[in-house]
Parts: sequence; C-alpha cells; structure tokens
Amino acid sequence: MVSKTVMVTGATGYVAGWLVKKLLDEAYTIHATVRDPGDKQKLQYLDALAEKAPGSIRYFKADLLKKDGFKEAMEGCEIVFHTASPFINKVDDPQKDLIDPALIGTRNVLETVNEVPSVKRVVLTSSCAAIIGDARDVLKMPGQIATEANWNETSSLEHQPYSYSKTLAEREAWKLNKGKSWKLVTINPSLVIGPGINPKGTSESFKIVKQLVDGSMKAGVPALEFGMVDVRDVAEAHYRAAITEEAEGRYIISAEHHLFLELADMLRPTFGDSLKLPKRKLPKWLVWLVAPAAGLQRSMISRNIGYPWRVDNSKGKKELGMHYRPTSESIVEFVEQIKETL
Ligand code: NAP
Repeated sequence: MVSKTVMVTGATGYVAGWLVKKLLDEAYTIHATVRDPGDKQKLQYLDALAEKAPGSIRYFKADLLKKDGFKEAMEGCEIVFHTASPFINKVDDPQKDLIDPALIGTRNVLETVNEVPSVKRVVLTSSCAAIIGDARDVLKMPGQIATEANWNETSSLEHQPYSYSKTLAEREAWKLNKGKSWKLVTINPSLVIGPGINPKGTSESFKIVKQLVDGSMKAGVPALEFGMVDVRDVAEAHYRAAITEEAEGRYIISAEHHLFLELADMLRPTFGDSLKLPKRKLPKWLVWLVAPAAGLQRSMISRNIGYPWRVDNSKGKKELGMHYRPTSESIVEFVEQIKETL
C-alpha cells in the first residue's frame, strides 16, 4: 500500500488529466505542479473532478526550467509522476522550446527527488519516440519490431527534435536513477488519442487529429503509419506502474498501429459527410515536395512514409495487466469532442 499523497507534474496536460482523475477516484491527495496556479480557466476541469471524487488536489507553482517549487510539492509524497514536457511538432527554436524544458525539467525534478526521502518511486512519462526515431529504423531492429530494449538513435536537434527531447530526457532520468534508492519506471506511449479532460487541449494530439477532420487533408493524406493508444489507457498504465510493486524498467504502451487513412475510414460510418475527411493517400514524392510548405521536414517524410511502424506491447500486458480500448472507439470519441471546436 503506497502513501496516499502523490505528486503530478504538468497536471494541466492532456495525459495528466486522466491520471489526475484516476488518482482522485482512488482517494489520493495530489500535489499538482502547474506553471500558473492562477489560471482558473485551465484548472476548472481538474477542480470539477476533485469536487466529485474522494481524493483532493493542491496546486504548486513550478516551471521545468527552474528548480523552485518542486521540493515543496514533493514533501511527503511517496510517488512522483513526472508527465510535464512540451509535446509540440512545430517550433521556432528546438533547443529552447523542446530540449531545455524536457532535459532541464527532468534534471530539476529528479535532483529534487534525491533531496526528499519520502519519494520511493518515480513514474516518468517518456514516449515511443525515445524508442523509435523514424519508422525506417524499425527495419534494423531484431524481428523488425521495437521493444523496450531499443533506443532512438537517429533523432537530433535538426531532425525530429521532439523525439530527440524525449530520448535525451529519458536517458538523463536513467542516469540520475543509477545507484539511488528510489525506483524509476517509464511509460512509453505511442500517439495518444481519445477525449481530453480539458476539451480545448493544446497537446499535439489534438492538432494532429484536428488536421485529419477539418478539411486540411481533404485532398489526401500521407501514408504515414503511427502507433496509437487511448489517453485513458495511458493514465491507467501510469497508475499501474505506480502501484505494482514488481513494475520495472520501461513499458511500451501502445494499442494498435494505423495509417492516417485508416483513421479516416474509422470515422466515416459515424460522421459521414459532416466532416471533410480524406479519401486517398498522397504519393510519397508529392508529400516530399510540399512538406516544407506544410511545416513538415523532408527528412521526416523520406524516413517514415512507406515504412511499417511496429512495437511489441507484450511487456505492459504481462507485467501491468494492460488491455486496450480499440482505436476505432477512441478516435470516434476524440473527434466528437474536437468537432465542437472546429
Ligand atoms: P500537453 O497537454 O501539452 O501537456 C504538457 C504539459 O507539460 C502541460 O501540463 C504543460 O503545462 C507542461 N509544460 C510544458 N512546458 C512546461 C514548462 N516549461 N514548465 C512546466 N510545465 C511545462 O501534452 P501531453 O500530450 O499531455 O504530454 C504530456 C506528456 O506525455 C509529455 O511528457 C509528452 O512527451 C508525453 N507523451 C505524449 C504523447 C501524445 O501523443 N500526446 C505520446 C507520448 C508521450 P502548461 O499547462 O503550463 O502548458
């Protein structure tokens, strides 16, 4: 039985929202770090959850780039869930906008863990992006499928900087955990989909799915394949990684893999012509040609389109007892929410 006081960094986030709900429903006291505790607009969704649940939530101001705030929030907590990290694909300055908050943030949180003896376990939100850089890389992996043993070795500041930020942050976490008495468990989800606690979420997940349904891809979609997983299952994985004594190491958390066009096909029976859904795949050469205008890197197109993206999710099923919602349900529920904001 773990202490009923836990800390969640980045509690306002898309992934964190459902984790907060789960913890509140299980009667935990949550020390939630947020950048702006005065942002009532953002916090209203978490406050509404707390009102209806046996648990409670207290907010602490903390920015990933500064160490202040984390210690106060961490005192008395046995578990730390470190979810905060920017998930943005288009950035002006990858170092400042992605790498620094991911890497310095992980360092600030985990160095604080070393100063707070009550903390026994850290559950870190990493990503499949720390395992696979580009789909092409999977071809070189044993059995052409990625497992927790693999690391992303191809992303850089110039190519796939978000994936690079997640790789650097997770590597740093394992380095800081070495020889310490607290346990580190990482959750490595693929693309997270499904309705948010905050319906106006700013996570890249919202932007990606919005593009699929708002007409931006009406002429066709790139034949890009992704792993995907429901946000509620990702929250459940974090919870299980915290309460399962034997949980150990990294966990790939991914339900299914699909092409963009397959997602559109899953949406057609429910939404029909009410959404401007794509009906065809665009040839790779055309996507490559127009990529910069669409804010995509040509190197990303070259190394991903036409390559199968495969992960082995058996460790999470076996050790955390994970089972997954079907993508067809998650995507429909997500789009029902996103449709309201179009
Ligand atoms: P999100 O909704 O944008 O959440 C990101 C969180 O990080 C927000 O709470 C944000 O706080 C916080 N944050 C960003 N920069 C910060 C800073 N400088 N200081 C303090 N907090 C900061 O995105 P998400 O999708 O839920 O992502 C949450 C985690 O899941 C990230 O670690 C991400 O890499 C990981 N992940 C996401 C996916 C996915 O498909 N969504 C897949 C794999 C892994 P504010 O509210 O103050 O901005």
